[in-house]
Amino acid sequence: MRIGVPKEIKNHEYRVGLTPDAVREIVAHGHEVVVETGAGIGIGASDLDYEAAGARILPDEAEVFAAAGMIVKVKEPQASERAMLRPDHVLFTYLHLAPDAPQTEDLVKSGATCIAYETVTDKRGGLPLLAPMSQVAGRLSIQAGATALERVHGGLGALIGGVPGVAPARVVVIGGGVVGAQAITMALGLGADVTVLDRSLDVLGELSARFGSALRTVYSTRAAVEQYVLDADLVIGAVLVAGAAAPKLVTAEHVRRMKPGSVLVDVAIDQGGCFETSHATTHAEPTYMVDDVVHYCVANMPGAVPRTSTYALTNATLPFVLALADQGYKQALLDNPHLLAGLNVHGGKVTCQAVADALGYDY
Ligand code: NAD
Repeated sequence: MRIGVPKEIKNHEYRVGLTPDAVREIVAHGHEVVVETGAGIGIGASDLDYEAAGARILPDEAEVFAAAGMIVKVKEPQASERAMLRPDHVLFTYLHLAPDAPQTEDLVKSGATCIAYETVTDKRGGLPLLAPMSQVAGRLSIQAGATALERVHGGLGALIGGVPGVAPARVVVIGGGVVGAQAITMALGLGADVTVLDRSLDVLGELSARFGSALRTVYSTRAAVEQYVLDADLVIGAVLVAGAAAPKLVTAEHVRRMKPGSVLVDVAIDQGGCFETSHATTHAEPTYMVDDVVHYCVANMPGAVPRTSTYALTNATLPFVLALADQGYKQALLDNPHLLAGLNVHGGKVTCQAVADALGYDY
């Protein structure tokens, strides 16, 4: 199979669908890879790196779409990319179709087979192609929070780990899933005083077994959230209620009562945010103040570290890319119900129930 990797064209998107290392694996399986010139610039991978891995460089996205049978990307195809899709194309990328009627209509019209990273599942009921980005966001949340705690950034001027003789910052992580666990790892690594709140006893049990007595685990109730948030220097919002907007666990009243210079990092902002005072921000202007509390609410946190994010994403997508290429997409989908769960559009029809329900298509 010939696999195409166009340069991402969405504003401020620096990731790329395949790393040179992934290209080398695919080529070793006997497939061809064509890469648009400059596709890897955002992660520091040059055309020469891709050529050394066995790819052929093409001068523009039109040639990549024309030459390839499968397109591997990161972001949902933009209108100009959708116009180049054909019925024999397999598109493998993040799609997020439910809130995006124009994109869904174009993909249906194209007749292409569109597999969305975000709905591929795993044996444990997880979303293995979303998890790498949650891991990145979780780790980054502590870096962002530690920076915001600095005085020049509006914070109370506390070093997250303290120093011998001075107490560390109190970090409270609300939601101990993928984001939360990575935030805890970073915060404990920096020497912070860390508490996690979750409403799943299983999650708290797993975290307690993993981190031992270094981590305080607390069952999440309104009372517990209020008690720990009011006392915190840094709060990480990392909750997810599948298929729903994030619950507003920290209220405007809590924010009014928090200590001046404390910091809220709302990782759940892409689901509407779990702090009542949150609104989405960008990497260009990541923070704002409400009642002297610093808010960091960047909706695409992994975009800050495209190199790490691309490698993490490709590690997770590569086995699926290889299966689709080695077996052909039909057999690969028939053989693997978890990959089949990623099939959102095929042959002019919406094939994902949630998308069909959200946008009124027959399923
Ligand atoms: P996850 O499902 O692994 O974990 C969510 C956790 O929240 C679960 O353990 C769940 O029990 C817990 N939870 C639910 N309701 C709660 C409550 N009331 N109190 C305490 N805990 C509660 O999800 P995840 O992958 O860790 O993602 C967390 C959030 O981060 C999601 O909204 C996701 O979309 C978002 N995210 C944002 C970015 C970004 O760039 N901003 C990047 C990746 C993920």
